[in-house]
Amino acid sequence: MMAGSTLRNHTDRVRAAVKRYWGYDALRPLQAEAIDAGLANRDSLVVLPTGGGKSLCYQVPPAVASRTDIVVSPLISLMKDQIDGLRQCGYPAAALHSGIPTDAQADIANAAAAGKLHLLFVSPERLVTPGFHQLLERVSVRAFAIDEAHCISHWGHDFRPEYRQLAFLKERFPNASVHAYTATATERVRQDIVAQLRLNNPTILVGRFDRPNLIYRAIPRLDGDQQIFEIIQRHERQAVIVYCITRKETERLAALLQTRGVRAACYHAGLDSDVRRHTQERFSREELDVVVATVAFGMGIDRSDVRCVIHAALPKSIEHYQQETGRAGRDGLEAECVLLHSPADAMKWERLMRRAAEDQIGNGDDALRASLKMLGHMRGFATAPICRHKLLTEHFGQTYDQGSCSACDICLHENTDEAAGDDESCAIAQKILSCVARVEQRFGIGHVVKVLLGSNDKRVRQFGHHELSTYGLLNDHDEKTLTNFVYQLVEQGVLDRTETDRPLLKLNAASWEVLRDERPVRLIRPKPRVVKATQVEAASWADVDRGLFEQLRQLRRQIAFDRSVPAFVIFGDASLRDMARRKPTSRADFLNIHGVGQRKLTEFGEQFMGVIRKHGARAAHAAASEEGADAHT
Ligand code: ADP
Repeated sequence: MMAGSTLRNHTDRVRAAVKRYWGYDALRPLQAEAIDAGLANRDSLVVLPTGGGKSLCYQVPPAVASRTDIVVSPLISLMKDQIDGLRQCGYPAAALHSGIPTDAQADIANAAAAGKLHLLFVSPERLVTPGFHQLLERVSVRAFAIDEAHCISHWGHDFRPEYRQLAFLKERFPNASVHAYTATATERVRQDIVAQLRLNNPTILVGRFDRPNLIYRAIPRLDGDQQIFEIIQRHERQAVIVYCITRKETERLAALLQTRGVRAACYHAGLDSDVRRHTQERFSREELDVVVATVAFGMGIDRSDVRCVIHAALPKSIEHYQQETGRAGRDGLEAECVLLHSPADAMKWERLMRRAAEDQIGNGDDALRASLKMLGHMRGFATAPICRHKLLTEHFGQTYDQGSCSACDICLHENTDEAAGDDESCAIAQKILSCVARVEQRFGIGHVVKVLLGSNDKRVRQFGHHELSTYGLLNDHDEKTLTNFVYQLVEQGVLDRTETDRPLLKLNAASWEVLRDERPVRLIRPKPRVVKATQVEAASWADVDRGLFEQLRQLRRQIAFDRSVPAFVIFGDASLRDMARRKPTSRADFLNIHGVGQRKLTEFGEQFMGVIRKHGARAAHAAASEEGADAHT
């Protein structure tokens, strides 16, 4: 237990370090407790959502205690981005990994041994080598931080076998504390981390999972490409990630967006590693606005100003959805997460899951049941008319008692889908089912829809289906809506779709009940949405001079380019907006801007204030000539 004055002293030192290096005035929830555990050398597990500020928790203790701590990180790109960012703040940190030339490695090791670094980043593979152990002894290491600690667990989504070896730390360095950090919310993963790392009576800190700055929208997919394009247009020149299920789909969509003038590229695990790295770098230097990716685009993305994450189709679990949308708005500013979904998505996943279970020897059935259950939760999230913040929070075992979130399509009342009347639904369903019967249950959705629309399609004519009584029977609907109706019937179990490569529509017992008017059906007619403004957006843009903000962004991009570092390590968007709001022109005022510490004031203050002054002068000049013009009228 620390005495009152020592505690105050220690709190002051933490606050002073945070202000000096990072320019932040306050700590975020649980950061103080996590920093205390680091300073007291008590093992800890810190679970904070993405963007919660985990890095600061392990960056502060060695700076306050003047020591060198070790950070284990799974990816070189993550280490690089953090070190670039820390260096811009004047904080001494370095990494040892295979990408660093041998002589530079020796210099880094010497700097660490001489106590000149606060943090030394290392991969798990390097940590277990005898050479590195010798270095750790020279450093007299007191604490290890394990970043992305869920990589140690089989139950997580990014299992890394090398992380398993970290179990030796407590044995080999009994006097050093171990601090695990993750954003993964499940209890099972947490328990696994504590057990695997052999944490000794750890402080366990679990933050709130709700991200109030994220605006969630879940929208039925009708014309997917056009919907995606319109969302991207809402975020012109901003960072957007689009997640697709297949590699082919990422390539097709990225090419399409390029033809429409969007600075987009695709990213998936099938691409050459150089191509992937290049795309990632262009994205972090703001040379690319949109990355269309599979789930392979993940942990390495450190760009904090991602303003929109689009899911082109339903992901297979809420855990995946949370992880992927977590990449939006890490800087705490507003960001939009749009999920486009169709009943077809769940069916596609189900087919893939069944196939995977068949290929698996042993507990295939259990795994299948578990994954179908997760898929069911995800589908519920997309379709239930319940606040999306509430659903997500409760899914992860926390309560949400805030009433309306004002930051999801449900609470904003954007959802204008209407249920067709019972009689109308039933009539539409019967026409669809009759058509399936008329084509002898030998065709798929596309063909049946064409017949119902009365299409002049070659195949329809070839099979003589233009002569059927159901030809053109639903031609008062458009193709997208009709296709959606067919999927809704399949979802409701009144029509079957085979699990073959080219799925065919088949009638079942329930279909006949519908045809005989013995069973009700309900169809929803999805409507185009009107996107409403949110309080989150209004608050984070309040009083910001947008023209000035764009000019400051341009300067940031230029400096980042000259220094070959990601743009966000120069200043985050929150800092630029604060500058464009308060327009500081003196050093003292500049230091009060969010995210400006001593080093950044010295390095960048004059350049940014130059832009602000010029902008102010131009505005004053424009106002004066307007006044002059008024005087002459
Ligand atoms: P996580 O690793 O939990 O996803 P980060 O450590 O990357 O989150 O932090 C997210 C962003 O929030 C970073 O830009 C970081 O500098 C910023 N941040 C962290 N702590 C604070 C704080 N106390 N005040 C303001 N910004 C903070």
